[in-house]
Amino acid sequence: MPATVVVGTQWGDEGKGKVTDLLAKDMALVVRYQGGHNAGHTVVVGGETFALQLVPSGVLYPGTVPVIGNGVVVDPGVLLAEVDSLEAKGIDCSRLRVSGNAHLIMPWHRELDRLTERYLGRNQLGTTRRGIGPAYADKAARVGLRVQDLLDEKIFRQKLDAALKEKNAVLAKVYNRLPLSADEIAGRYLGEYLPRLAPMVADSVGLVHEALEAGRNVLLEGAQATFLDLDHGTYPFVTSSNPVAGGACTGAGVGPRDITSVIGIAKAYVTRVGSGPFPTELGGEEADVLVERGREFGTNTGRRRRPGWFDAVMLRHAVRLNSLTELALTKLDVLDTLPVLRVCVAYDDPVEGRRYQHMPYHQSVLHRVTPVYEELPGWQADLSGATSPGDLPRAARDYVDLLADLAGVPVSVVGVGPGRDQYVRVAA
Ligand code: GDP
Repeated sequence: MPATVVVGTQWGDEGKGKVTDLLAKDMALVVRYQGGHNAGHTVVVGGETFALQLVPSGVLYPGTVPVIGNGVVVDPGVLLAEVDSLEAKGIDCSRLRVSGNAHLIMPWHRELDRLTERYLGRNQLGTTRRGIGPAYADKAARVGLRVQDLLDEKIFRQKLDAALKEKNAVLAKVYNRLPLSADEIAGRYLGEYLPRLAPMVADSVGLVHEALEAGRNVLLEGAQATFLDLDHGTYPFVTSSNPVAGGACTGAGVGPRDITSVIGIAKAYVTRVGSGPFPTELGGEEADVLVERGREFGTNTGRRRRPGWFDAVMLRHAVRLNSLTELALTKLDVLDTLPVLRVCVAYDDPVEGRRYQHMPYHQSVLHRVTPVYEELPGWQADLSGATSPGDLPRAARDYVDLLADLAGVPVSVVGVGPGRDQYVRVAA
C-alpha cells in the first residue's frame, strides 16, 4: 500500500494527529497536502504533548521524511518557530522538506484576515485570523508568492512590489490602515527566514514519486476535514482548501491511481466548532459529558466545541467523497459512562415529509432536518486499558460494528485514550 491518505470525516478535531502518528512510523514520507498552521494535530508521546501545526506528524520518527506539500500555505515565521520548539524538545527537524510550489502567507494576508472578519461582524466565519484564507484567495487570483520565489531575490522583490501596490491601496482606502513596507517585509523574508528555510526547500513532487517508484510507503496527511472542505463542506463555514482525499492529488502531486488506501478518521461522536448546521447537536447533561470527558475545547481558541451523537449520514457522505477504504474510530473511551447511546441513521425533513438516507445537497434542508436515531445500550466500563478486541465489552463492539455496517467500510483501529499506545486494532 504505497500511498495512503488520512482524512477527517467530520468537522475536524477527530484525532487525526494520533492516527497519523500511528501510521507514520512505517512511512518513508509523510506529506501534508493542504491547509496551513490552522490545523493543530495533537500527539501525546510518553506523557509529552506535541502540538503540531504545520510540520507533518512524521517528524517524530527518525526514519520518516516529513514533507510540506505544494497544496499547503506556509507562514515561514510560524514554521521556523515550530521547528525551534520541536528541537527544544529534542526532536530533530533536519529532515523536514518544504515544497517550492507551496504558497507563502504574507503580512497582508494576516492583516486582511483580521480586518475582513471584523467587517463581517455578526456574520464572521470564525477564521483563525492567520492569513490562510487570504493566501489561498491570492493563489487563485494568481498574485501569490511561492516558497521558490524566496530563492530569487529579484523575482521576490518584483512580486512583493506588485502585490503591495494593490494590497496597500486596499488597506488604506477600504480599511483605513497604514501601508506595509516592502523593505521591511523583504528584510524579514529574505534576511531572516530564507537562510534557515533554504535547506528545506525541495521538489516535493519528485520526492513523493521517487518513494512510490521504489515501492516505499507514503502517507498523505490532510488537515481539517471532509465537512470543512471548500467544495463539499457547509459553505461558507468551511476552510479555504480541499481536505477531501482528492485534495491529496493536487496538494501532493499524485494521480488518483497512485492512492491505494484512504483512511477516514471518525470520532465516536461528533463535534463542531463555531457556527453552521449540525443535525445531531446535543444539549444538557449528555453534552457536558462529551465535552468534559473528550476535552472538547479548541486547541487554539479554548472555545467549547458543540457536541452531538454520531451521524452516519455524514459518514456515508464522507465514504462517497473520499472513497474511504477503512475507518479509524477515535475517542470511543469518551462514551464509557453513558448508559444509552444514539446513532443517527437518517434525517427526516418535516417540510418535504421525506426521509434522507444520504446528505441533502441543499443546506436549508440540513438546517431543518431532525435525526432518526438507532439506540444502543452503553457499556459503562473503562476502555482506557484495552489493547485487543477481546478487551472491548460486547456493547462497545456492537457500537463499532454498527458504525462500520452503516458506513459500508470496515473499522480497522479504535482509539481508547489520548496516549500513543491507547488503541485497539480490530481488523487488518
Ligand atoms: P485533529 O484536529 O483531528 O488532528 O485532532 P487532534 O489530533 O488534535 O486530537 C484531538 C484530541 O483528542 C487530542 O487532545 C488527542 O490527544 C485526543 N485523542 C485522540 N485520540 C483519542 C482517543 O482515542 N481517546 C481520547 N480520550 N482522546 C483522544
